[in-house]
Amino acid sequence: MIKTSFINPFSSDAKEIVSNLGQIENLDKENETLITIINYTRGQLFGHEMNLPKTLKQLAEKKFEWYLSKKSDKFNDKEYEYLFNPEIYEYDIVSFYLLCQAVAIGFGPDSREAKQVVELERDLIDQRLERLKAEPNDFQSNFLRTTLNQLIDTNNIYWTDLKDVIEMGEFDLNNLLLSKGRLIIEYEDFIEEYGELIQHRDPRSMYEVTGGLDLKSNLLKSIIMLHTKQYIQTVAKMAERMIEPNPLMDNLAENLRNIQEKAQEQKYGSRGKGSFNDNQPVSYEMEAFPPCVRKCMQGIKSGGRNDAIVLFLTPFISYARLYPGIFSEDKNMKISEVDPSLDITLNEVIPMIYDAAEACSPPLFKDQPQEKININSKLGFGMHADLKLDHEGETQWYTPMSCEKIKLHMSSLCTPSVDCKKIGNPLTYYNRKRKLMKRNNNNNKGEQVNNNGN
Ligand code: SF4
Repeated sequence: MIKTSFINPFSSDAKEIVSNLGQIENLDKENETLITIINYTRGQLFGHEMNLPKTLKQLAEKKFEWYLSKKSDKFNDKEYEYLFNPEIYEYDIVSFYLLCQAVAIGFGPDSREAKQVVELERDLIDQRLERLKAEPNDFQSNFLRTTLNQLIDTNNIYWTDLKDVIEMGEFDLNNLLLSKGRLIIEYEDFIEEYGELIQHRDPRSMYEVTGGLDLKSNLLKSIIMLHTKQYIQTVAKMAERMIEPNPLMDNLAENLRNIQEKAQEQKYGSRGKGSFNDNQPVSYEMEAFPPCVRKCMQGIKSGGRNDAIVLFLTPFISYARLYPGIFSEDKNMKISEVDPSLDITLNEVIPMIYDAAEACSPPLFKDQPQEKININSKLGFGMHADLKLDHEGETQWYTPMSCEKIKLHMSSLCTPSVDCKKIGNPLTYYNRKRKLMKRNNNNNKGEQVNNNGN
């Protein structure tokens, strides 16, 4: 029997589970029942490299990893099959609260990570409900009704009560059935309202087409997303009064940061390393990014978001990918000279800049969507909302700012490392570091060959 807490972490049962299992001293201890559930999950892939979770904290980390890595082409859903085993529900609930608390304390309620945890919960529920479709229609209907009624009264709810839920953007107000402002969710209400109008058709099918299970699923998902967002906000507020957060939370937040970095590298970096013809597009090598760029990529948490993303990061990210050797030549470039179809620009450069903008606190485009136009402008495509070849040349493709200017205008970005010595520009740092890394790699390979006696 699937428990409602497998879907809804805000039920009274779920809260009881947290008070029984959620003692802080147990969160980082190996949990035999959790391990057994995972080991007996049908279809689960096993292997050392998978690092299957043994503790509740590790389960929270794995959920975050699942959410981030499922967008990569290397993703194998069978590595995370245990997340869809209904028997895991108690541990899933505790790890849910752990994850919310870690992002609230470690990153804040407006952070990219907070938004990702809300979306993670949505995607998890989505896939779990998808699997529920294998069950008979009656079961699904009853299950959704019970779970939804833990959160709202499905026979008596007005759209105005759900304004915040609708704003989450998971469904459109125009697609809802309303009667004098009351939302028609259940079959009996549907029949009472529209039964007389339905002729020569099966009322049940009409109900399913106009709302039915899909409406209930979307409603449930959206309400849980809203509750998750609000819970993160509440924890963040409480954390402001905390003298010192629990070290476990700090450690979990740090691990989430590492997972985030690793996922970004998988998404953008390190394909086809080793070529040093820098007057053409070359794959990103994020390990070679200078400290200022890394800091900016993690999101600007205080003032100066606009300049950091538009003036500093946009030129760096675009030249690093498309033409890292720009300073070895004295010429003005256009992006189309190296990326004629704009494929790389649209699919790699822009997403990486947008990711960093999203990671700002608050996310840059949330209150300043016009900055997308400024980004296009700095890439040389004029002041337009769409990045189109027709507009290229209306503005200039900005070259990356010098270290001197960064220190002067965005001093908080510059936290020099030893490799910054005698460097005049972050792009020069990047090119030099890539060459050093390649040389070290070659030396290591040489040593290995020697040690093997070949
Ligand atoms: S010295 Fe230059 S490259 Fe190094 S962190 Fe500062 S701005 Fe970036």
